[in-house]
Amino acid sequence: MGTGTRSMKDDSDPKLFRLNKPRPRVHGFALLRDIMFIDSHVHFDRFVKDGTFLEILEHAKEAEVLKMLAIGGNSEANRLSLQLATEHPGCIFGCAGYDRDVATESPDLSELRGILKNPLVKAVGETGLDYYYTAETATEQKKLFAENLALAIEFEKPVVVHTRDADEDTFALLRDYATAWRGDPAQLGVLHCFTRETSFARKILDLGLMVSFSGIVTFANADPLREVVKYVPDDRLLIETDSPYLAPVPMRGNRNQPAFVVHVANQLAELKAYSLDSVAKLTAQNARTLFAL
Ligand SMILES: [Zn+2]
Repeated sequence: MGTGTRSMKDDSDPKLFRLNKPRPRVHGFALLRDIMFIDSHVHFDRFVKDGTFLEILEHAKEAEVLKMLAIGGNSEANRLSLQLATEHPGCIFGCAGYDRDVATESPDLSELRGILKNPLVKAVGETGLDYYYTAETATEQKKLFAENLALAIEFEKPVVVHTRDADEDTFALLRDYATAWRGDPAQLGVLHCFTRETSFARKILDLGLMVSFSGIVTFANADPLREVVKYVPDDRLLIETDSPYLAPVPMRGNRNQPAFVVHVANQLAELKAYSLDSVAKLTAQNARTLFAL
């Protein structure tokens, strides 16, 4: 939740989300343009719990954010992801795994396997290493990350990776993973919410993964990250909100939501000197390729 004082009423003002012109409507149906945004990383738990889920889904549609990946990371989030993917086919897609914060809880891998079998579940994650908050559990984190990667290989589904202050170990495990991967090389995975420097991006790209940018790329102090955007090839770029965290500029102080991914796309468009529609198109195409949407 943001620390700003804006009320929920302000948050839900649809004008805030409409960067594009509204679609022309004929007989009540939207004329389909070939444009949509895909938010590759959403935590829906909070929206479902506080009853705002349908409202934020509506905001997403108004902003032409038409597909979203519902991120898992623990048993509850994994089950919710599959449930939402089942209830909103073609709009919400599943993702299930065990993240570093459950590393000391010996989570149930057979339950995860059962969820990953479902074709609505498109990826494994999020999972990875975070030594910024919990360096003391590094051993358990590495073990759990490796177990997630083994499942990604088994099911030939891409992995959604979190890393913070753990570049070396993350890279070492991902290198082994890339070597063992037997699926489509374009579906290896993504390093989400990228915040590192260009040299690390290069290593990740060389392995074959994609790189996803969140609202952080719009922050005032993110000049080095904006340089990384220019470096990442067009066919490896994804966009995400990581909702409900990290609202982009100019929505700081609000709780983040999938509709705001348009602001991330807008920042990428500025940096690459592309139109917003082009960024929508290419990032949507990349998400479709990676997650087989
Ligand atoms: Zn996340």
